[in-house]
Amino acid sequence: MKLLGVWLALASLLLAFDYQLKPQDVGEGIYCYFGKPEVMDTNNNGNMVNSCFVDMGKEWLVIDSGPTYLYAKEAYAQICRIKELPVKHVINTHVHDDHWLGNGYYKELGATILGSSAFEEISPDEATRMQNRISAQAYVLTSPKIPDRYIQGEKKISIANETLILKHVEGSAHSHSDLYLYLPSRKALFAGDLVFNDRIPSLRDGDISGWISVLEGIKNMDLNIIVGGHGVRTDKQAADFTLAYLKEMKQGIKEVLARGGDLSDAVKSLRMGTYENSKFYEEAHRANINAAFQMLEWE
Ligand SMILES: [Zn+2]
Repeated sequence: MKLLGVWLALASLLLAFDYQLKPQDVGEGIYCYFGKPEVMDTNNNGNMVNSCFVDMGKEWLVIDSGPTYLYAKEAYAQICRIKELPVKHVINTHVHDDHWLGNGYYKELGATILGSSAFEEISPDEATRMQNRISAQAYVLTSPKIPDRYIQGEKKISIANETLILKHVEGSAHSHSDLYLYLPSRKALFAGDLVFNDRIPSLRDGDISGWISVLEGIKNMDLNIIVGGHGVRTDKQAADFTLAYLKEMKQGIKEVLARGGDLSDAVKSLRMGTYENSKFYEEAHRANINAAFQMLEWE
């Protein structure tokens, strides 16, 4: 039986899904794979999220390991065509599974995974959202491997004499477990899903006020590069789209609440037309109003 399992795994590897990943040069020794502005499905097989590599001289630092084992393996093989370096550290920005299911591959390479303690809640026996929505062929060899080291509050770490600042956001923002990575000497920030571009952000698991306040903090940092979890924009204005969207929504809901309106009034008056043509407007905008309304009602 065991042998059959091994053969099946081998056979599916031979038919392995090819993501056709190509690293994009973001500057300052940073390369990213930018996912499509889509929901995970059997066509993209989870390639709807960003995963980045930073050249630390003697190692590649990975920020978000991507949606599957095969994705991580392909991403690493492609980056080694630019420079062949080992991976010793992987940062997980938050618990949403499109961002970290590639961890297992980097664990095999001997890397240490760092993330927030919210990963403790993840049960390794439960089927992941990714597993339910993409093809088995792309998911093969993927298993949910949570971080080895938990980050609480703000933590400085040093890799090859460069100081990196990891910050676990207190309370909720995009999720209840957001972590960002700041590289002061490169003026670069990896914001995870605190920053979205090319699509409507998702608030279903977060807190609108907490999210706005983190982004306002980020706007005050000295940065040339901001890389989000979704979307290809990486300049210093990359956080503006998400911040403007959330602020307009919060302001609008507060006005509805001030005149004694309810959720359906908020949905009606908050079409927010400038975003109507953004991807995920139909899927996420109304759900975002719903989530934000419930939070702001009690504020
Ligand atoms: Zn997320």
